[in-house]
Amino acid sequence: MKYIGAHVSAAGGVDQAPKRAYQIGANAFALFTKNQRQWVAKPLTRKVISDFKANCKRFGFSSDQILPHDSYLINLGSPEEEKLEKSRAAFIDEMERCNQLGLTLLNFHPGSHLKKISEDECLALIAESINLAHQAVPDVVAVIENTAGQGTNLGWKFEHLAQIVDQVEDKARVGICLDTCHTFAAGYDLSSKEACEHTFAEFERIVGFQYLRGMHINDAKIELGSRVDRHQSLGEGNIGWDCFEYIMQDERFNNIPLVLETIDPEIWKDEIAQLRVLSEKE
Ligand SMILES: [Zn+2]
Ligand SMILES: [Zn+2]
Repeated sequence: MKYIGAHVSAAGGVDQAPKRAYQIGANAFALFTKNQRQWVAKPLTRKVISDFKANCKRFGFSSDQILPHDSYLINLGSPEEEKLEKSRAAFIDEMERCNQLGLTLLNFHPGSHLKKISEDECLALIAESINLAHQAVPDVVAVIENTAGQGTNLGWKFEHLAQIVDQVEDKARVGICLDTCHTFAAGYDLSSKEACEHTFAEFERIVGFQYLRGMHINDAKIELGSRVDRHQSLGEGNIGWDCFEYIMQDERFNNIPLVLETIDPEIWKDEIAQLRVLSEKE
């Protein structure tokens, strides 16, 4: 089964998100459980928590179809002591919010070395941050997103992802989310079936599909290997439909949230419908 959806708005409360996903024909969705540009958020009320759970049930979403995304401010590999502490506390709070909402996945960007520490040191800090969060909160899986490799962001090479996973103690609670735009920006070609075959074989060899817990389905405005993150609507960028058809036809992408973050929410409904057709094609 393919779980296809989009990153929907949680304006008015997280409990509003399941209906928005349902209205665009999605059977998966992503959301922020707090304002993604602020450090602190009001705790979730009991009412919002119970409404969220009721709406998920009503509109047919189970926790493995929902991929919450953490705040953009968090840097779990920060070389600065104070910033690292703040990030770790905020990440644990994000994990707690997921746990309260009955969610079992939390998608996040690994972190940046800011040219102050080595890549290896930064990746070790990220893994340690995950271990600390696992000790603080039960059940939630830390889902590391691959990045475009902009600036000093790590996680654009599959080797970075493997290096983090290697140092996480609870392997059952660490996973990967591959963003097609980020993968392409990082230099892994996805613009033909053959290219997809090769790129995902690399992922299998270096990280392993057993860790794949979600995908962000985006076309790319930028060139292969540009290390810049610019999403595009499906079929309008340099990746193209061959890649999305490949993913929809391949069983390795079954039963994980496949989430659009394309630039025009007005056409998400159509994009989801087109992906659905490809997933059902014989
Ligand atoms: Zn992301
Ligand atoms: Zn992106």
